[in-house]
Amino acid sequence: MTANLYALFASRFPADKTACCIETHDGQYYTWSDIERASAKMANLLSSLDLPSGARIAVQVEKSPEALILYLATLRAGFVYLPLNTAYRAAEIEYFIGDAEPAVFVCSPQNFGWIAQIAFKAGTRHLFTLDEGEGGNGRRNSGSLLARAMHHPDQFETVEKQADDLAVILYTSGTTGRSKGAMLSHGNIGSNAQVLQQYWHWQADDVLLHALPLFHIHGLLVAANGALLNGSKMIFLPKFDAAEVCRQLPRSTVFMGVPTYYVRLLANSGFDRNTCRNIRLFVSGSAPLLADTFAEFTARTGHTILERYGMSETAMLTSNPYATERRGGTVGLPLPGVSLRLMTTDSNGDSMVCGTNGIGDIQVKGPNVFHGYWRMPEKTAEEFTADGYFKTGDVGKIDSNGYLAIVGRSKDLIISGGYNVYPKEIESVIDEIDGVLESAVIGIPHVDFGEAVTAVIVKRPEATLTTADVITLMKNTIANFKVPKQVFFAEELPRNTMGKVQKNLLRERYATQVAGIVTPS
Ligand code: AMP
Repeated sequence: MTANLYALFASRFPADKTACCIETHDGQYYTWSDIERASAKMANLLSSLDLPSGARIAVQVEKSPEALILYLATLRAGFVYLPLNTAYRAAEIEYFIGDAEPAVFVCSPQNFGWIAQIAFKAGTRHLFTLDEGEGGNGRRNSGSLLARAMHHPDQFETVEKQADDLAVILYTSGTTGRSKGAMLSHGNIGSNAQVLQQYWHWQADDVLLHALPLFHIHGLLVAANGALLNGSKMIFLPKFDAAEVCRQLPRSTVFMGVPTYYVRLLANSGFDRNTCRNIRLFVSGSAPLLADTFAEFTARTGHTILERYGMSETAMLTSNPYATERRGGTVGLPLPGVSLRLMTTDSNGDSMVCGTNGIGDIQVKGPNVFHGYWRMPEKTAEEFTADGYFKTGDVGKIDSNGYLAIVGRSKDLIISGGYNVYPKEIESVIDEIDGVLESAVIGIPHVDFGEAVTAVIVKRPEATLTTADVITLMKNTIANFKVPKQVFFAEELPRNTMGKVQKNLLRERYATQVAGIVTPS
């Protein structure tokens, strides 16, 4: 039997193919039959290009149903889908094209000029455009991809694939360092989607409100795959917009978002229990959900957000339970099939598994764990242990009930005066202070301490908090070596598109402002 992910989805499509699969915010309907026929046309087009097996189809387009159909067509035709963040500019695209050597690049019409120069120089033979289209004036999606696909038959026999065959390359969003292409197979993605379908109790009549981007694991492999596998309708928003989400929520049963979405929904005065009356499940992930947001959301809506944890390299790893306690500040329990352990070193420097509440590096194994970084065998080898566990780079702690809390990234770890300081722990203390909206804790090189614990705080509008107040309060709460040496107030924290705080930018911004810092020569 084929392990092609598209074949798995197709086996779960509803019997009634005239039912709606995707409805756009401006009222366009795509039935399941439309999805099958349109993906067949695009798969026929891709197959007609005479590409080698394993060819990469790189895609940097605005979100649209056609962009999702292109993903499905790539799977059907047996090629490798490579989505790229729409925010990437020339230097970044040049890197991705050089690294992945895609045979096909699909871009937005407005980027055609500069992408063509880069792509053709790098040897990409086929460049197509795909427009996100505009509602209201009768113009729907255009671009050369659809114009060419239109002339191809609307039937296509899905190409046979093995579970280990490559399906998708996701370049890590990398808040630091160079992006690496995580290679995910049909088996990785299919197994994870099936586990989540069970774990989150997907229902026959679910409707997913899809507001996430399609170029990231969250929007593509968690949200869209979840609906496709369950044969569920999606309401597609081109991007997150709190007012539009509030308008569409009463027609939906499932919503998935990054923490920022939940913060913005709560900031919207019209968002209340009534808006959420038909929702069955709110899921959060990709970045830590603040305890305050978690609590405020329950108070406002009566719903408990379900937080889960995963990454491009592994798909989803842990989730709070559906039916039993969803614990704020934790990412829940390992998903079925995932083996997860926390590693630390003993006094002799030997590796050992952490005990309850011990802090350690998160390592994982399972059918969902990727096949390595694209063309980086050494980097791949470095990131796996001798017994086959992947080193996530995240640091966590597991409580006596088995719930995992993410404490930070191992590279975010601050070592001040020889003591380890985990930023998340300090951030949780600061976030408890009256008048604090949120905070980020970073290490800045320091002559005396090696690194100085430094806090960047966003105050609530009415707060009158000062640096001295924060430091005094913290001195009463935590060990002195953990108390920030410097506190800065900022209007907001810099975040990437998935809501992750970009600590590298904060480190750069404040590096020269901390007393006693080491200036790089
Ligand atoms: P990405 O590959 O872009 O999805 O980024 C994965 C990283 O996001 C993980 O390694 C974590 O550091 C972080 N992450 C994902 N989900 C969560 C979560 N629920 N809480 C805290 N961090 C998270």
